[in-house]
Amino acid sequence: MEKDKSWTTPPKGEQPPRVRQKEINRQQLLLRPVEVEKLIEKDHPVRAIWELVGRLNLEPFYAEIESVEGVAGRPVWDPRLLISLWLYAYKDGVSSAREIARLCEYHPAYQWLTGLEVVNYHTLADFRIRHKEALDQLFIEVLGVLSHEGLVTLQRVMHDGTKVKACASDKSFHRKATLQDHLRLAREQVEQMADPESEELSQRVVQAQQRALRERQQRLEEAIRALGQMEASRSEPSGKKETRASSTDPEARVMLGAKGAYGPSYNVQISTDAGAKIIVGVGVTQAATDAAELDPAVERVKANMGEKPKQMVVDGGLTNQATMEAMAEKQVDLIGALPERRGGAEKRMKQRGVSPEFYPQAFEYDASADCYRCPAGKELPYETEERSGASVRRRYRAKVSDCRGCVFQSQCCPGTKRGRSVVRSKATPEMAAFQAKMETPEAQAVYKQRAGVAEFPNAWIKDKIGLRQFRLRGLVKVTLEAVWACLTYNVCQWIRLCWKPQQLAQA
Ligand code: SF4
Repeated sequence: MEKDKSWTTPPKGEQPPRVRQKEINRQQLLLRPVEVEKLIEKDHPVRAIWELVGRLNLEPFYAEIESVEGVAGRPVWDPRLLISLWLYAYKDGVSSAREIARLCEYHPAYQWLTGLEVVNYHTLADFRIRHKEALDQLFIEVLGVLSHEGLVTLQRVMHDGTKVKACASDKSFHRKATLQDHLRLAREQVEQMADPESEELSQRVVQAQQRALRERQQRLEEAIRALGQMEASRSEPSGKKETRASSTDPEARVMLGAKGAYGPSYNVQISTDAGAKIIVGVGVTQAATDAAELDPAVERVKANMGEKPKQMVVDGGLTNQATMEAMAEKQVDLIGALPERRGGAEKRMKQRGVSPEFYPQAFEYDASADCYRCPAGKELPYETEERSGASVRRRYRAKVSDCRGCVFQSQCCPGTKRGRSVVRSKATPEMAAFQAKMETPEAQAVYKQRAGVAEFPNAWIKDKIGLRQFRLRGLVKVTLEAVWACLTYNVCQWIRLCWKPQQLAQA
């Protein structure tokens, strides 16, 4: 039977019918109800943050609010909301107050938190930096919750430092003379500032310009002060290299980063409980190395938790004599890599043009006479004790007359006008005990866990929370930023280890 095609094929000479499709009308105005509670799903992490913050004692934040009922003044945003907004934003890698304000306009999670209101970015930015003591207390409160859940035991704490870029560029570092030139110019500009009554520019623009100029002048004055402090803290003259400070963030310091590049940074010190990888202490320093950072870290953990850790596990950058003595005095078991001095010493020898046959290991130590004997058989008597940062070393030096007349001088101490010297670390009972302990398989097994635990929060904070570079400037503000990031990290661990499993169990 022949198929009837009359409904698909138009008769000859007629156009085929148009496809029937929905038109998009972008001119219309719609009013539609929004059920705020249904903007996000039941197990959305923003609910967990709101719930946890609601459980904490926020009295220190409320105590600072001046707007009270019965007195004239505008109501303020609830600190519980502002804390939750910042925690949720950091969790998603957002660290800009402007960006949070934008997200409040359309992002369901932010809309749920604010009840469809938009929080002004000034309010958010001020809140982040205004409550230092209250924020420290909040960090402790969250640790209390985690401890109650059995996630913090302080039996073993891994400590590590990580460099985070400062909010300043390499080009902002200048010598004293350049900073003084810039300061003179800035002062002149401040004196010649536009009249606020000027009709050519709006008053708001003039005020903003004045504020920017004053801030620049202030930063330059701080940079010159910082230069003075850096020069004063140098144990030796800096030689040809002049000290420089940043005109953008005078408190930032040039440090060697993880990728081997130098740049303006701060040194963030993080102590992590080994059990559930919870951060139990965070601090920020301007020190380029971690050498002297363990003792303050133990004190921070003690201040946060009410007791000191039983054991601290660190890398080779923190195992020095001062650290060993401090931990022994505090009765904290120290586990760490033995200091690797030989590689560094050999590198320095090579740079000075010393032949390998005259490296320090070629010199024999005579314990009975407390002196060294060089390959030419000459004696290097004890000269002096040196404290370099956290380590104590004894220096032994050959007589100038011995080296001057020596046939090996060009290989042993080229270009030196004094006699050749050798240094020996002063072995204290604490160092000897530490070295003996670190040779045991048990201590080595514990040390092997270090990288996995200590580097976990570092990676999380940099990759997920996005703290690769500080947004704020100055030691106090970057410390606040680091505490917000570590607090967020701990809240994320509570969600992962406590809240999510509870949600699954209830489902
Ligand atoms: S240069 Fe001095 S220290 Fe070196 S081998 Fe000769 S005498 Fe000894």
